[in-house]
Amino acid sequence: MNDALATALGLPALEKGWVWLGGGGPGDPGLITVLGLKALGEADVILHDALIDARLLTLARPGAELIYAGKRAGVKSCKQDEISDLLVRLAKEGRRVLRLKGGDPFVFGRGGEEAQALARAGVPFRIVPGITAGIGGLAYAGIPVTHRDTNHAVTFITGHGIDGKLTKLDWQAVSHGAPTLVLYMARKFAAEIVSELLKAGRSPDEPAAIVANATRPGQRTIITTLAGLPAAAEQSESLSIMVIGQNVGLASELNWLAQTTA
Ligand code: SAH
Repeated sequence: MNDALATALGLPALEKGWVWLGGGGPGDPGLITVLGLKALGEADVILHDALIDARLLTLARPGAELIYAGKRAGVKSCKQDEISDLLVRLAKEGRRVLRLKGGDPFVFGRGGEEAQALARAGVPFRIVPGITAGIGGLAYAGIPVTHRDTNHAVTFITGHGIDGKLTKLDWQAVSHGAPTLVLYMARKFAAEIVSELLKAGRSPDEPAAIVANATRPGQRTIITTLAGLPAAAEQSESLSIMVIGQNVGLASELNWLAQTTA
């Protein structure tokens, strides 16, 4: 990062003994924030997860230590407590630490848990928000997460909880609560979720979409209906976000990425 830019924007420095808990955005490396980019160039140690684009990591300071601390569905390569303990230890050694996660660290990303561990250990930290897949990923498919003609509210849901089972939710309330539902980590339980929503009275014909590998190479959008969502989920790539609601219909007019790459 250019020093003049950092000075002009009054950006803080990543100090020794600090942890910055940052979001890398949904995939396209251009979607990281300026603050995140600055931290990449200043950190002594970068703990990143599987969703961080390798090109971003090439911007690390020469000699910086890169530690893969990721998890993908079903693969527990690192236990959460171990990651939190490592963050605390590295900071207490006086290192400048960047914990870089996909999307936004506080959206279904366990960033809250890591921040709590830092707070309890007395380690100073800063949160660097990122663009979450449920907003930026949909934008790359031409689906505005809200639009005055279609929805004034949106609900973000994770498909499974800490126990790996279908999220325990009042599906009646979810179903009636907002016209648009955005589902993370929902591929495995798509059939159960759709069945709950149909039972709660959502229409089987309601537009729905799956955006796989959003903002990444190989991005693919499957446009379907609520009833068609489970079958579409089976065909979709594993990294996928689902959206249910009338705003999905806007993609036919707003799918700008298809136009730019056609
Ligand atoms: N903190 C992240 C979410 C982590 S949970 C964020 O704010 O985006 C991981 C889930 O996010 C995946 O299972 C998937 O449902 C969704 N996701 C993350 N990146 C994605 C992408 N590029 N394309 C589609 N879905 C994505």
